[in-house]
Amino acid sequence: MSKQTRNILIAVVGVFLAAAVISIIMSVSSEKDAHNIAGQAAKSETAITVNGVELPAYEFKDDTYTLADNLIYFGISVEPDEDGKVLNITANQDGIPEGMSIEESIIRMQDDPDVYFPDYVTCINGEQISSWAVDGGTLIPRAALSKLGTEVYDESSGTYSYMFGDYGKAPENPPVPTAPELTSPEASADTAVSSTQQPAATAVPAVTKEAKIIVLDPGHGKSSGEMSAEEKAEYGWVNNGDGWGEWRHFKYGTSSPDCEGDGCSHRVTPNGACWYPIGNGDRDTEPAINLNNCLAAKAYLEQMGYIVRLTRTTNDENPSITRRLTYCYPNNDTSQQPDADIFLCVHSNAGGGSGSAYIELEGPYDQPTTLGSSEAYTDAGNTLGRYINEEIGANTALGTNSPIGGEPELIAFCKCPVICGYMEIGFFDDPSDLEILNSSSDAIGRSIAVGVDRFVREYMG
Ligand SMILES: [Zn+2]
Ligand SMILES: [Zn+2]
Repeated sequence: MSKQTRNILIAVVGVFLAAAVISIIMSVSSEKDAHNIAGQAAKSETAITVNGVELPAYEFKDDTYTLADNLIYFGISVEPDEDGKVLNITANQDGIPEGMSIEESIIRMQDDPDVYFPDYVTCINGEQISSWAVDGGTLIPRAALSKLGTEVYDESSGTYSYMFGDYGKAPENPPVPTAPELTSPEASADTAVSSTQQPAATAVPAVTKEAKIIVLDPGHGKSSGEMSAEEKAEYGWVNNGDGWGEWRHFKYGTSSPDCEGDGCSHRVTPNGACWYPIGNGDRDTEPAINLNNCLAAKAYLEQMGYIVRLTRTTNDENPSITRRLTYCYPNNDTSQQPDADIFLCVHSNAGGGSGSAYIELEGPYDQPTTLGSSEAYTDAGNTLGRYINEEIGANTALGTNSPIGGEPELIAFCKCPVICGYMEIGFFDDPSDLEILNSSSDAIGRSIAVGVDRFVREYMG
């Protein structure tokens, strides 16, 4: 081969390689465009070390982050689940990969990487944490590392040092909270009335131990047209300049403040609309039906030993959904941890049809919840809805329908911090259903209570 031929060959190969590199870069950047960019991180002055090795730190939205992907060098596994919807960070008994220099293996991104809304949620030991996506990795808050080992802060050097234990040794998993034991329905069978009789108070099983807290949310309320601006503000509605309503999400990964149309992942959002106008919730017949069903359910649940909170107690009030969700917290104080176990939306349907159903959670949801992952939150709420609907079908004249899908964006689903169920009990615009609804709130309330109780025993217990 002549020198000239060889040079031509090298040139041809070079062009091919360049074309390949360019096409890879183009495909990567077009993939990037598919995600919502959230902003740009900056190199942090905060020093983070794990087992004595310094990890790169980044500042983003008033918090310090590090790359989850580097934790694999410290006996931690960082693995997406099968569907790629959850990134699980857990202690890995097998320890670190062998024959690697940790210092050399650590991934260090450029100083100001682009940050994206992730299309997955991140969990440490099953507990959901906030996270952001960067090219080829995941940013997690510095403080989340304390879930994996001990934390020591040295004020003089501004260094957070973490010890994850011996490389192969897993830190203890947090204890799984145990649900209070409840007496079985059979235990009180001797006091129960026969099933042919009307349900009576004595037929309801009693709780003997620590009570669960159930928030019942009778949907809707006073019409927006009858509310003054002061009243709207007092009940948690916000004026965005165009009118009154509320925001569908919190800022990404937080339990406040509101997303205000950006700052959220825009997942489970129809047409990107984060705003819910107050008038969309106006109803005439439905508010009273919902309240009656909830008042009956409250009485039965309290007999069973549950603590019940109502988000409204009259038809002359109409709190925003965001305000209603504050009943999940002690004294409505959202700066504390939620203490409720269940938030149950109680509605009646309209628009053609009859019978009872629950609305399905579909997810993925990215607000922090006591359930940890979006999947666990979704599964719990749907199971609760199914149990209650089965009881309504068995104990009232209402028929039952398949779960209602295609509404994953309901504000309660997107903002609730605890298990969230959503019932659509009968069709109030169907004459036959309306008659049942107007005459059977006691049986419906009892069905709600028995369904909740079954859920607590079988699912949470
Ligand atoms: Zn939003
Ligand atoms: Zn409704």
